[in-house]
Amino acid sequence: MAVPAFRTSPSRKRKRRSHHALRRTNLSTCPACGATRHPHRACRECGYVRPGLTLKTSGLG
Ligand SMILES: [Zn+2]
Repeated sequence: MAVPAFRTSPSRKRKRRSHHALRRTNLSTCPACGATRHPHRACRECGYVRPGLTLKTSGLG
């Protein structure tokens, strides 16, 4: 198995991990029922996706 030839310096390690922070998820409001939902996803409350397309919801979530 290949192993790194050189030890990663603290500076190089921190620079790499500077991109690892989690971002807040973007939330928008459902135009049909007003609940918060993710963009491009069906609404968990009412199943609304876009005009003319509404999915059935299980009622559990
Ligand atoms: Zn909705």
